[in-house]
Amino acid sequence: MSALFGNYGKRRAQIVKGQGTVVEDAKGKKYLDFTSGIAVVSLGHAHPAIVKAVQQQSEKLWHISNLFEIPGQETVAQKLVADTHFTYAFFCNSGAEANEAAIKLARKHTGKNHIITFEKSFHGRTFGAMSATGQGKVHNGFGPLVDKFTILPFNNVESLEATVDDTVAAIMLEMIQGEGGVNSVTPEFAASLAKACAEKGILLIVDEVQTGIGRTGTRFAYEQTVLKPHIVTLAKGLGSGFPIGGMLGTAELYDTFGPGTHGTTFGGNPLAMSVAETVLDHVFAPDFLHNVQDLSAYFIKQLKANLPTTYTVQGQGLLLGIGCGDTEVASYIKEAEEKGLLLVGAGPNVIRLLPPLTVSKAEIEEAIAILKSILR
Ligand SMILES: *Cc1c(COP(=O)(O)O)cnc(C)c1O
Repeated sequence: MSALFGNYGKRRAQIVKGQGTVVEDAKGKKYLDFTSGIAVVSLGHAHPAIVKAVQQQSEKLWHISNLFEIPGQETVAQKLVADTHFTYAFFCNSGAEANEAAIKLARKHTGKNHIITFEKSFHGRTFGAMSATGQGKVHNGFGPLVDKFTILPFNNVESLEATVDDTVAAIMLEMIQGEGGVNSVTPEFAASLAKACAEKGILLIVDEVQTGIGRTGTRFAYEQTVLKPHIVTLAKGLGSGFPIGGMLGTAELYDTFGPGTHGTTFGGNPLAMSVAETVLDHVFAPDFLHNVQDLSAYFIKQLKANLPTTYTVQGQGLLLGIGCGDTEVASYIKEAEEKGLLLVGAGPNVIRLLPPLTVSKAEIEEAIAILKSILR
């Protein structure tokens, strides 16, 4: 009998090691990992530069706490805000924690507690982040939720215009809803968000926990829109497998988070920072991001050329989805795994494709061949 809570449902293959895009299970069977541990292992498994960073820093200092200055935090913060309109960074340990920080910052800065979020969004499992999440299945049984989130239909300009008023502290959303079905923000909706925030003095929080750090082919996904968020939150890809979260904010927010207002014991520890620095040195290099854009264009072209037109291809960069209409995708995901391709769903009807950003065209071709054999 297992000594674990059953909150994760039935587990799948037992993966014991990995190299790049390829992982191996306990029986020695190899798989192409097109989940990247849910958009996390962006440089691929066991990337030599990350292994080296962990080895070198772990021999020096793992943890000292935020009682002390941690030079790595300054280095990573500078790399994250360079050539952006952001000025400051805060580090924590997960996506939910980054969103908690954002919600707290927005409340304290504006003195208001009304935050607009959207249906099918996902912001995490802690009380604030869960309350912000627009999916009933995430809330069920855990009420009462935190006040006061108004959850509106995604990409719906009319409902947004009808709801924004002087009570609203912030609007929070993903540029591509990752868990909720790989739904991208439309240009019309982005324009309407920009207008609403400017006219009503509302803070814009973009949850880039899944889309950030190169996943969509640019450093941050908001860069492909007209939006200039006041706050972005980060996690998944920032540590390429090492647990880390982060929040970036504009200069005007600085005074709100003064000494003692917010914090975490583990956040931004030297080991995490050495990994994040290595990740950013790789991913933020222009050639690397151009290559992600190239791979994405190739992947999308191959998907469209090889799958029946009843399937839709969604998303940007290497956060792609195959929309399967009303068909449930669980059995496709199982079949792919049997054939050596690891996939993850996005809601019940969309297959999510999240290879490492270092995936090769040959690996994309192998994945396409497996997908083609399943999605006839
Ligand atoms: C995964 C995810 C989160 C939650 O991150 P955790 O590290 O699991 O807390 C929040 N927002 C988005 C968009 C995510 O994809």
